[in-house]
Amino acid sequence: MRRKTFDQSTPFCPFCRAGIVKPRKRTGIPLRHFPCATCRCGAVYVSDLTGKNGGEALLESLALACNENEEQAWSLTEGEDYVLRIMSYDTRKHLFNKRGHFKDGMARLYFVKLTSRD
Ligand SMILES: [Zn+2]
Repeated sequence: MRRKTFDQSTPFCPFCRAGIVKPRKRTGIPLRHFPCATCRCGAVYVSDLTGKNGGEALLESLALACNENEEQAWSLTEGEDYVLRIMSYDTRKHLFNKRGHFKDGMARLYFVKLTSRD
């Protein structure tokens, strides 16, 4: 029987609050190391399984948000061009860890949403 502990919650998109699916490793795209997925609101998220590859995971989420345009991804500024949310994630149970602290060895989900400029 799978039970949620009180400090875990069903994962959701921090931008639109919709439930999210488990990120999956994509095949056919070289240089993509992290499981990822896209929310229906346009946010993308990447799973950093060890919680230790933050920089790379972030760059991958940005590249994904820019449709693999890495040049554009590199030029983005947090807070201006995109919003970033990092959630502590239990990959095995597909649950968020609450309480805002990150345990060692726990995965993290990097959520990126591009700010629309028009
Ligand atoms: Zn969303």
